[in-house]
Parts: sequence; structure tokens; C-alpha cells
Amino acid sequence: MMPDEISRRTEALPGEEPALLQVEGLSHYYGERLGCRDISFDLWPGEVLGIVGESGSGKSTLLNLLAGRFPPSSGTIRYRDAEGLTHDINSLSEAVRRRILRTEWGFVHQHPRDGLRMRVSAGGNIGERLMACGSRHYGNIRSTALDWLERVEIAADRIDDRPTAYSGGMQQRLQIARNLVSGPRLVFMDEPTGGLDVSVQAKLLDLLRQLVRGLGLSVVLVTHDLAVARLLAHRLIVMRRGEVVESGLSDQVLDDPHHPYTQLLVSSILQG
Ligand code: ADP
Ligand code: MG
Repeated sequence: MMPDEISRRTEALPGEEPALLQVEGLSHYYGERLGCRDISFDLWPGEVLGIVGESGSGKSTLLNLLAGRFPPSSGTIRYRDAEGLTHDINSLSEAVRRRILRTEWGFVHQHPRDGLRMRVSAGGNIGERLMACGSRHYGNIRSTALDWLERVEIAADRIDDRPTAYSGGMQQRLQIARNLVSGPRLVFMDEPTGGLDVSVQAKLLDLLRQLVRGLGLSVVLVTHDLAVARLLAHRLIVMRRGEVVESGLSDQVLDDPHHPYTQLLVSSILQG
């Protein structure tokens, strides 16, 4: 164990799994401009947490902060790793950051080009991630890549094609395979169905739900689409102008919204 991996062990009640993420007082400003303000919550193992709100409400800012993509202006994010050690996401050593990013987390971007290497074959996109986790045997890497292509419903004979030859829906499925092949514990998703035609969205949503539930993944999912939130998320955080206005179990928030902003969202006046 590296000395800088030792921070502290998270306390948990007997028989209860401790939180995977503990977020406290998270705020971010882009210069003078508010990104998000004073956000706190816990994410539990196996939980899918949806972050909803209209465009510009701070969803992506919050997601990027959680994934350690840039530091917050204030607040803390603690992550409990596979060994049960808790890390402050914003004071990770480079080595630990790389290990967590490669082996414990995934990040699915709205636009597949942001999460794929477009000049590398589909098989290479999946294999690269396996190699980053330590796989070396070519035959194993190829057969695992084939297995994952099948799981995301991409024909085996497309394995040597580059993503540029794929449709948007296939590219997104490939990005998902690349992220899930290494068996991450926590996956961040930013509008994963957002860039696709409506007919393709429904199919992808089905597949995502089946994969997420089947693997028991913990997910932080950003979406402005409440249908996506309802299908995938156990719990929701509703954001408006950078702040959380309401949170709770998905069905409860969507069927019986308390805050007037959530009521507007649900009545779909603010969607799109
Ligand atoms: P959402 O994902 O909900 O659409 P964002 O997190 O992208 O919202 O944006 C929240 C607020 O932060 C918006 O007012 C947006 O204009 C601002 N913002 C986002 N990214 C930047 C940036 N790179 N520089 C300046 N302001 C930004
Ligand atoms: Mg966004």
C-alpha cells in the first residue's frame, strides 16, 4: 500500500455498507459566474443518482467536480475505494488518481467522440482500457473485447472498424463498453442518451438500464430528460441555478414534486 493512499477508513454502522461518495458543501465559480453552490449528499453502493434540471442549472459542473476533472472553489468530495480507503478527491497523488480513473471509475460523455479514440479500432478502444488495467495477453484482450461488443449489441465483424464508421448509437454503445469492460465501481454519465435520435435513445436507455442493474453499478447520471431519470435513477437531485432545490426517491420526486420549480419541470414546461 502506498503511504499516500492511507487517509482514513470510513465509519459504517454494523451490517451497513459505507457511502461510496461523500459530498460536502461543494461550490464552484467560473470567475464571477456561478457553476454550483453548497451541494451535499452521499452516494451509496449500487445506487443510481440522477442529477436533473434545465440547461445551465449546473449539472455538468457538479458531475465534473465529482469526477475530479477540476477542483471546486470550496467543499470536499470523499471517495471510498475498493480497498475501503477514503480519499479526498482533490488531494490525490497523481499515481492514485490514475489508478482510480483507470480501474475504479468510468465516465460516459454525451458525445462519443469525447470518450473514444476515433482513430483506433473498436476492439482497440476496448482493449486499450483493459491494458491500462494490466491485461497483456492479446488473445484474452481480443476475446473480452468481442464479448463486450456483443453485450452492447455490436456485431463481431465490426471489431476492426474505427468508430468513425459507426452510427451515433453504435458509437455511444462502444463508449459504454469501453467504460464498463474494466469492471468499474462508479460510473459518471453526462446526458448519455442526449445526442441521439429519439428512436435510438429508447433502445440505448433499455440497454443501459439492463447493464447498470445487471452489474449493480453505482452511477451518477446527469440528464435533463426526466424519462431517462425515472427509468435509470433510484434517487434524484433537482438543480436550479446551481443549487439543489429538491431531492428524494425518483418516483416520489417525479410523482409528487414539492418545489414549484420541480413542478414546472415535471409539467415539462422547462424541458427540452
Ligand atoms: P448544465 O450542465 O446543467 O447545462 P453547466 O454546469 O454546464 O449546466 O453550467 C452551469 C452554469 O455555469 C451556467 O451558467 C454556465 O453558463 C456556466 N458555465 C459552465 N461552464 C462554464 C465555463 N467553462 N466557463 C464559464 N461558465 C461556465
Ligand atoms: Mg450539461
